[in-house]
Amino acid sequence: MDVIVGGGIVGLSIAWRMARAGRAVTVVDPAPASGASYAAAGMLAPVSEVTYTEAPLLRLGMASLRRWPSFAAELAQDAGLTGRSDDALATAGGISDGTARSGDGDPGTTAEVAGLGAFGGLEIGDAARHGLDLRADGTLDVAFGADDLAALDELAAFMDKLGLPVERLTGRECRRLEPMLAPSVRGGLLAPGDAWVDPRRVTAALLAALERLRVPLVRARAAGLLRDEDGRVIGVRLEPPTGAPGTPREESEPPSELRAERVVLAAGAWSGELAEVPVRPVKGQIMRLRSPQPLLSRCVRGTVHGSYVYLVPRGDGELVVGATQEELGFDTRVTAGGLYELLRDARELVPGVTELEIADVVAGLRPGTPDNLPIIGPSGTPGLVLATGHYRGGVLLAPLTAALVLGDAGDSSGLGDLGGSGDFGGLGDLGGSGDLGGSGDLGGEEGRLAALCSPGRFQEIS
Ligand SMILES: Cc1cc2nc3c(=O)[nH]c(=O)nc-3n(C[C@H](O)[C@H](O)[C@H](O)COP(=O)(O)OP(=O)(O)OC[C@H]3O[C@@H](n4cnc5c(N)ncnc54)[C@H](O)[C@@H]3O)c2cc1C
Repeated sequence: MDVIVGGGIVGLSIAWRMARAGRAVTVVDPAPASGASYAAAGMLAPVSEVTYTEAPLLRLGMASLRRWPSFAAELAQDAGLTGRSDDALATAGGISDGTARSGDGDPGTTAEVAGLGAFGGLEIGDAARHGLDLRADGTLDVAFGADDLAALDELAAFMDKLGLPVERLTGRECRRLEPMLAPSVRGGLLAPGDAWVDPRRVTAALLAALERLRVPLVRARAAGLLRDEDGRVIGVRLEPPTGAPGTPREESEPPSELRAERVVLAAGAWSGELAEVPVRPVKGQIMRLRSPQPLLSRCVRGTVHGSYVYLVPRGDGELVVGATQEELGFDTRVTAGGLYELLRDARELVPGVTELEIADVVAGLRPGTPDNLPIIGPSGTPGLVLATGHYRGGVLLAPLTAALVLGDAGDSSGLGDLGGSGDFGGLGDLGGSGDLGGSGDLGGEEGRLAALCSPGRFQEIS
């Protein structure tokens, strides 16, 4: 049996893909789906998020984005979503109780799930669209001043060099696409293939799918790794349940330890508490606004007063406004200053936001790494696999991460369709170090993607 420590979008995705592949797996998390994945906006936007120094991240992001439609269709199927517009999974408090949706238990046929429509180049089935709010209508990056426009032109030229599909628009063309944009918007860059999803619905669906596949979920904190005399990781020690001394143990109380063939560490920003990994918390405050009718039809982002703000529309009329980026350690306080900045900047882009009702404000901790790339694959310690450090892109990278871990776990079938990027001519030399850190059986494009995330690139990991 494998034990996955951490039930955020990364750990749950890995567990679900493993269970689907017939592997015995258990998830350990005291509060699944409550970490960064609960806060995330859910942008699947590798193109509009590309930066001059993070081209490897683009390669990973594109590979994962291509996997999202089939990942979502299969998840919707396994979670029992049918594609009807009432297919919103209960995400109250962001935490599903893990109960399978009521119904006849028939996960539906692939054909039903695949009732496909084309959106921005990605084929998205009804169940994924309605149940997970997966959409691929693009991202519009907007600019105000002459400096912003010049920066946008430079970025457009860079993207062009990489062979990325983007379109440079005038201010008027931007407002034609998004009439609620401020009149002061002077130009924009449209990335038509970018997508987004509601991460709370995704984690709720993952929990429902795991329940249906009878994957045990142990609601306890892993307090440490169990090792044998050779140092191999052989399981996890669980924190004893808190309660008055002498309180009798209940039947449902978690065991004190779990033995495992392999432990997959997917504890997000907290991963460093269990192993030597260079992962740090990067705080992000974000808010959800409720709108009687949708204000936007695609993701809009821009840099205002030197800080970057984005707005993501949800299918139910919600508008997500995010996000701050703060290096404050394990601090999840929502502050007046953080919210003020978000609203101030969002209002510059779309003045109508100030009319909207505030639905929810939260702060989450992104698992940051020194090079902003995730850490995925076997660690230097036998028995310990890492799937952490996804920083700003864990939602986007969840399907790819699960495939890479599964490939490592001996089922390479999940890696079969990772290739095909072909057209990013300018990225051809991003193959990474070539040190697969133990994923040595992965070839070609899969091997190069695995190398980019390899724990082996950090000497200090153990
Ligand atoms: C404001 C904000 C906006 C974001 N927007 C986007 C976006 O638009 N697109 C995108 O792709 N990404 C986005 N991200 C990043 C994304 O949320 C993260 O990269 C992703 O959620 C990481 O997932 P995870 O499963 O690794 O971590 P988490 O979701 O944090 O999950 C970690 C889990 O581990 C559990 N855990 C911790 N310690 C232990 C332990 N000792 N034992 C057992 N369990 C433990 C926690 O309870 C938690 O459930 C955003 C993040 C923030 C904060």
